[in-house]
Amino acid sequence: MARVVIFSGAGISAESGLSTFRDTGGLWEKYRIEEICQAGCLSWNRENTLVFYDARRAQLGDVVPNAAHEAIAKLQQRYPKDIAIITQNVDDLFERAGCKDVLHLHGFLPNLRCEKCSSTQAVGYEKQERSLTCKVCSGSLRPDIVFFGDPAPMYQYLYEAMEDCKCLIIIGSSGNVVGMDHFAKSIKHSILNNLEKSSAIDEKVYTKVIYKKATEAIDEIVKDIEFFLKA
Ligand code: NAD
Repeated sequence: MARVVIFSGAGISAESGLSTFRDTGGLWEKYRIEEICQAGCLSWNRENTLVFYDARRAQLGDVVPNAAHEAIAKLQQRYPKDIAIITQNVDDLFERAGCKDVLHLHGFLPNLRCEKCSSTQAVGYEKQERSLTCKVCSGSLRPDIVFFGDPAPMYQYLYEAMEDCKCLIIIGSSGNVVGMDHFAKSIKHSILNNLEKSSAIDEKVYTKVIYKKATEAIDEIVKDIEFFLKA
């Protein structure tokens, strides 16, 4: 029953060196979504898709959590029952910073997932061995990533978490993939932190808006959350 939901997107990991999708220099300037991140691309463009995620995994192994991930981990350690961490990110930077029970809405890059039975197995930052099969049912494996158009089974837990949420924090999400404005409208305390305005977000529905790098905004955000929790 966490009263505070910290919901994040690619922007929180940008300062660790992982590209966002939509910002200038982001991944969509270099790759086409429909070729490597659209339901079905594993059937018609399998090798290129696997190569793309092999590269993402290798890159993830070379970066470290930043001050925003770390401050959130410390906050969760102080208030374990009150803080839910929900992310659209597929990286493991929250976990490496010490966060627990992170809900990954769009999959988890250090895992592979069975295309037949959906069980997952850890591969860390390694390349996906093409001959590797599922340990449970011998089905073929794919990156554990929710592609556009794929089912997103974890969304149900987002909706459940939002039922208890009294303080919503959004960090580093343009709102293009998952819109949170409708939740923010009915929540008394909410903070939006991005680098700049997004056409997919109505900033008026947030009680505080901070356009700054996450690592620069995080102390103020943590202070506000603690103020809310102690009130
Ligand atoms: P997005 O790329 O659409 O938007 C990024 C947002 O972060 C923008 O609003 C931008 O202003 C903000 N931002 C950029 N740098 C920031 C910083 N230093 N501090 C604070 N804010 C910053 O990202 P999205 O809304 O998460 O949607 C894209 C999808 O891409 C998500 O589904 C996500 O799963 C996926 N993605 C994940 C990763 C990752 O796991 N690290 C990386 C790229 C994309």
